[in-house]
Amino acid sequence: MNIILCIDMDAFFASVEQQANPKLRGKPVAVIGSGHRTVVTTRSYEARKFGVKTGMNVYEAKKLCPHIIFVVGDNDKYAHTCRELSEIYTAFTPDVEIYSIDEAFLDVTTTHHLFGGPEAIGLEIKKKVKSKFGINCTVGIATNILLAKLASDISKPDGLRWIKPGDTSSVLENLAVEELWGIGRKLAEKLDLLGIKTCGELGNAPASLLRSKFGITGEALKMMGQGICHRPLIVKESGPKSVGHSMTLPYDIWKEKDIEAYTLKLSEMVGRRARKYRLTGNVICVTLRYKSFETFSRQSKIKQRTGDTHEIYNTAMKIIKGIKLRDSIRLIGVSLSGLAESENPEQLPLIQEYARKRDLLKAMDHINDRFGDFTISWARYMLHRSRPAVISPAWRPQGIRRTTV
Ligand SMILES: [Mg+2]
Repeated sequence: MNIILCIDMDAFFASVEQQANPKLRGKPVAVIGSGHRTVVTTRSYEARKFGVKTGMNVYEAKKLCPHIIFVVGDNDKYAHTCRELSEIYTAFTPDVEIYSIDEAFLDVTTTHHLFGGPEAIGLEIKKKVKSKFGINCTVGIATNILLAKLASDISKPDGLRWIKPGDTSSVLENLAVEELWGIGRKLAEKLDLLGIKTCGELGNAPASLLRSKFGITGEALKMMGQGICHRPLIVKESGPKSVGHSMTLPYDIWKEKDIEAYTLKLSEMVGRRARKYRLTGNVICVTLRYKSFETFSRQSKIKQRTGDTHEIYNTAMKIIKGIKLRDSIRLIGVSLSGLAESENPEQLPLIQEYARKRDLLKAMDHINDRFGDFTISWARYMLHRSRPAVISPAWRPQGIRRTTV
């Protein structure tokens, strides 16, 4: 029997902000984006009492709660906390799925006995998260991720709940179907038309009825109603998946030459780090965040793996030029994935041009290692006078952790 823990931070962004600024503690706080059309992304439990909901605009929120405090969200800060949280989790098991920035699943099937059982692990994680970050989280424990997530959802905030196999049917019996992870309002409405309102009813519904209505999903729905779920944890293999850097710009930019300069800087940082660890990759990915906080990524695969700054840069710029930008840019990220160990550096490249390039990069890296970043760089970047400062690897902890300098 598997034992899965779902760890979910309570009001994560708002809690991080309250922790960072004591003046916000105990007060209704809403985290919003930076644009003027922004909406509430997270609200503290104090704000929830006034009926403030995710997705409301600032005027609606203010109407319900006149003394609400708005804080502009800082994704880099949340990403940083997320990475540190994953270090707490991996102390209890290597099988950790970081499901979202504030939720993780831990498979403790083979390790829980080392720590006094699943509940003891849950309590210890809650204690560590509270003492290290000052924020509350809720822990759900069950035999699969569907029920672990449910256990956490129904115990928020600051809760801990273990749904044991013997309790499953009584928990599900009268539970509304939309409480289940994966059943949204639309699907719940369709089930309602079939006279199915609770998980108990869903689990007992004839498979043929569900199949005729929902096709192959019908059977999965019936199983969900019974608390059965076979989705395994998606645990990242060890070793770096990508080498990436992103940068929140000191001001929003839209001119091509500014975008080029920052992209070159990021490409150089990525290339340099890849070379340092003798890695090459063949997928280059660019992430852009608009002023409005809307964030998206586009990637492109190249024929041969590379760790060369210019190849990374040229591909990244090709990607960017293919995007019709709708707004100014507040963050750029460049990453290299599809990684493999590069060839033995002592082995002589067959083509002389490659050898020269390799030697040039090696010399540049050597100088920068010795005298500091960007002592020597590409002319195009040097011409750009304002040098950006904020640097953050991609938030997913498996991203680059192993190659972080
Ligand atoms: Mg949460």
